[in-house]
Amino acid sequence: MRTMNDPHDTLPVLIAGGGIGGMTLALTLHQIGVPCVVYEAVAELQPLGVGINLQPNAVRELYDLGFDDAALGSIGVQAQEWALVGRNGNDVYAEPRGLLAGYRWPQYAVHRGYLQKLLHDAVLARLGPQAVRLGHRVTGYRNEDDAVTALVETRDGQRMEIAGRLLVAADGLHSAVRAQMHPSQPPIQWGGAVMWRGTTPGVPIRTGSSFVGLGSLRHRVVLYPISPPDPATGLATINWIAEITQDNSEGWPKGDWNQRVAVEDFIAHFEGWNYGWLDVPALLRGAKEIFEYPMIDRDPVPSWVDGRVALLGDAAHVMYPVGSNGASQAIVDTRVLGAAMVQQGVTPAALRAYDDKLCADVSALVLRNRGAGPFGILGLVDERCGGVFDNIDDVIPASERDAFMARYKAAAGFAIETLNAAAPIIASGARARH
Ligand SMILES: Cc1cc2nc3c(=O)[nH]c(=O)nc-3n(C[C@H](O)[C@H](O)[C@H](O)COP(=O)(O)OP(=O)(O)OC[C@H]3O[C@@H](n4cnc5c(N)ncnc54)[C@H](O)[C@@H]3O)c2cc1C
Repeated sequence: MRTMNDPHDTLPVLIAGGGIGGMTLALTLHQIGVPCVVYEAVAELQPLGVGINLQPNAVRELYDLGFDDAALGSIGVQAQEWALVGRNGNDVYAEPRGLLAGYRWPQYAVHRGYLQKLLHDAVLARLGPQAVRLGHRVTGYRNEDDAVTALVETRDGQRMEIAGRLLVAADGLHSAVRAQMHPSQPPIQWGGAVMWRGTTPGVPIRTGSSFVGLGSLRHRVVLYPISPPDPATGLATINWIAEITQDNSEGWPKGDWNQRVAVEDFIAHFEGWNYGWLDVPALLRGAKEIFEYPMIDRDPVPSWVDGRVALLGDAAHVMYPVGSNGASQAIVDTRVLGAAMVQQGVTPAALRAYDDKLCADVSALVLRNRGAGPFGILGLVDERCGGVFDNIDDVIPASERDAFMARYKAAAGFAIETLNAAAPIIASGARARH
């Protein structure tokens, strides 16, 4: 029987990875009174990445962690609309988003790197500088009876073993902890889609804060602003993703979010995509830097937990970004894990409760996103009329479009009434059980 004086009770929770999931977990653990330390592989956190969406379910959690609209508005903009447009420039589907859709919380489109910095700064301010160890890569772990040992390597090659009560691996797509937990997992799965991503100053279209997916299932552009317009110039930062699907039989050797390419490498796919209200080639050419990223995921695993070790965020469920829910799910994961510790203490039982609550459902979402996610409507347009239509109602009736989206949102945890009525995942003032 362990007591409060057991030396293992004073050990921190170890967090591998200081990305969106790792930093949010540190803030959540601090909120419920659990000491923790983040071990992040890179020596310096830079504002890497381009746009990501924070769905209302994740924004709610960020509010509960003390980030208000001023904070979130400093790294992005509230999304107002989600729209699909055919290659001919005609509307296929549009719906309001965030508060306009009836959620009690807004949706934000933000810059990933700025979000990471916002979270990191909050961790340093609330937990202190000792809570984040940069330049420390977690390479593996050893479960002990009453503790876990993380195997850590520093940038200068020093190896150390660090004891913790639990280890939570938020070490992303190439998670070393997941590789040890599931040694026979198949390699990264690539379905053949390649995304080129960048940001360009531009005048926001439609509502001024619309997410627009234009084209077909296998050949499209997605764009949305991630800043308000500059009052002086009227230009906002427009995040864009140009995407094609090609033959994947050769496989893609690796997935790196920061692989730079030149616009000439891919612009030919989008020449002539000029609609007056939107000049796609000009948008693509206007970016200072462009990143190429294969649309990849991993086959789900049956469990995210091994003893005192759990996977979280992309390490647990890297998914195609078609539903804009990778970062949001990472944030929600941290809160579900925190709630489990409120109920069950800082214990393997809490990790199992977290696993039971999320692993099966989120794994199903990974597979659902592989099937095109909400962009599936564009697939129906392709199938039924080859993308040629005047009025979308003649191709897919409004009721069918609405039903399609409602199914997706329910599966992804975005159902409006359910979210609005749900109690907070972690009640205000809740502390982890001892
Ligand atoms: C550099 C970068 C740029 C990205 N850009 C975009 C983007 O533009 N759009 C988009 O939708 N998504 C982007 N993502 C992915 C997005 O951040 C995630 O899908 C989502 O936020 C889930 O967050 P996560 O914390 O699980 O993973 P991530 O945010 O990927 O964070 C993982 C963290 O773990 C660190 N790490 C990796 N291995 C180890 C290890 N062995 N030990 C310790 N630390 C380790 C990484 O350096 C990283 O900081 C990017 C990710 C990265 C790392």
